[in-house]
Amino acid sequence: MSRYLDSVCKLCRREGEKLFLKGRRCNGPKCAFERRSYPPGQHGQTPPRRGRENNYRRQLRAKQKVKRTYGVFEKQFRNYYFRAARQSGIAGENLVSFLERRLDNVVYRLGFATSRNQARQLVKHNHFTVNGKRVNIPSYIVQVGDVVAPRERSRNLAVILEALEYSQHRGAPEWLDVDPEKAEGRVQGPPVVEQISTDLETQLIIELYSR
Ligand code: SF4
Repeated sequence: MSRYLDSVCKLCRREGEKLFLKGRRCNGPKCAFERRSYPPGQHGQTPPRRGRENNYRRQLRAKQKVKRTYGVFEKQFRNYYFRAARQSGIAGENLVSFLERRLDNVVYRLGFATSRNQARQLVKHNHFTVNGKRVNIPSYIVQVGDVVAPRERSRNLAVILEALEYSQHRGAPEWLDVDPEKAEGRVQGPPVVEQISTDLETQLIIELYSR
């Protein structure tokens, strides 16, 4: 399985906004975007030439932003798009639904990890169960009614306890029901784009792939 090994902070700087890929560090003074909010590379500080803003560029940036936020590579992202387009309903909403229902994202949303990267690693290291069964595939798509929880022996892991404490301010989206007593979360409905973020420009992504 391939992995992105370069600095993830460069991705925020390229997209021109904070994508919160590094957990705790993103809200601290060491955030690279706070210190250097221009694009990375030799020409990062050169003002863009006039007339360079075109439709393709906007569509590409919208796609890259979502892809990088969820930590998905191009091939898998494209597959999600094709699956989303084949389903009934609005393709953009179906696409976000696939991304949101990935197990690594659900673990992050439930507050068991401070970033999706950390969630991915915890899932891969066998720390989570879905409906009581161990699942170590970060791209596993959860369904309505599924219960996601850390394994019994992983509940007291320092990294999970710290993440739960740190993530309290974030809160979980409405489609996930968190039970802090049992340290588990239930998928109580399909993800709704408006509840997740208002700046996901899914229409531009659909336009890009339908060219
Ligand atoms: Fe982005 Fe977080 Fe790095 Fe800041 S610290 S640039 S928000 S990944």
